[in-house]
Amino acid sequence: MRALTLVADRKIELRDVAAPPRPAPGEVQIGIRAVGLNHLDVWGWRGMAFAKRKLPLVVGVEAAGEVVAIGPPSRASQPATGSAGIKIGDRVVAYGALTCDNCKACREGRDNLCENVGGIMGFHVDGFARDRLNMPARLVIPVPAGVSLRDAACAPVAFATVQHMLFDNAKLEPGETILVQAGGSGIGSAAIKMAKAIGCTVITTVGDDDKAAKVKALGADHVINYRTERFEGVVRKLTGKRGVDVAFEHVGPETFNGSLLCLKRGGRLVTCGSTSGQSTTINLFQLYLQQYRIFGSFGASLRNVRESLAKMATGITPVIDTEVSLAEFERGLARLESRQVFGKIIVTFQ
Ligand SMILES: [Zn+2]
Repeated sequence: MRALTLVADRKIELRDVAAPPRPAPGEVQIGIRAVGLNHLDVWGWRGMAFAKRKLPLVVGVEAAGEVVAIGPPSRASQPATGSAGIKIGDRVVAYGALTCDNCKACREGRDNLCENVGGIMGFHVDGFARDRLNMPARLVIPVPAGVSLRDAACAPVAFATVQHMLFDNAKLEPGETILVQAGGSGIGSAAIKMAKAIGCTVITTVGDDDKAAKVKALGADHVINYRTERFEGVVRKLTGKRGVDVAFEHVGPETFNGSLLCLKRGGRLVTCGSTSGQSTTINLFQLYLQQYRIFGSFGASLRNVRESLAKMATGITPVIDTEVSLAEFERGLARLESRQVFGKIIVTFQ
């Protein structure tokens, strides 16, 4: 069977590999149909010195597919998280980190804080971009009727990350005003849709006028082209000098301090990424005098994945930039890296 395999930095090959064995007790076998690309894939592709991993590595951090085989039942496979009802032919997504299901964080449903995590799939350990793989049933989540597998492939990482950022960390509430940085990105576009769905006012930034029209169409109330306008000044004007309740960050040093400046007193900044670099300095006087709250956010819980799929079933669907074939995986990553995307890039299996 086929597997997209990272063999060296910036070198991914479509390899013929052995099919997985019959699933063990407590496991299911998934036939992968669609993989969603994320900046995490770009980091892994570029090579990250801090990531403990061994090459060759099967890539792909989030995906959707169909259950093609089920392991024999065992007492240990009846998890509290409840995937026992999964049958052959079910459409599913899988949680992308090998959590232990046993530590305090796992037992409390804070899966992304697992104390004994075995790695992030597609980044530390073999990922989803292969024809079939076995997964622990407790990490497999059914896709609701009416949600396409192409859209569902964006649930485990892109949508669930945004769900976790906005609602678990920043605790965004109806009627609040939010600044969404880079609204044309996969997670930015999801943040706009989720915030509008609960009745927030959304201010967003984009890098060109073409994207400005597209984020307006998603429902953004105000759009700022950060290349032609200083977004901090525009946000202050739009909010009557008050500032926003929440800033949604993932761009990094290029925008981080500006996003802080956009907050009202006691405002919340939540960040899950740093595509423009790793470090910045912040003004500590401003941090405590303005009583800002800053949340680092990475990944999501199993609950967040289920919530994301439920949102998709109500019509809050991901914005898809392009669909590419397996052979075009690297082309997709290059497009994502260049930030020329509007929404998500999906790799489809045929
Ligand atoms: Zn754990």
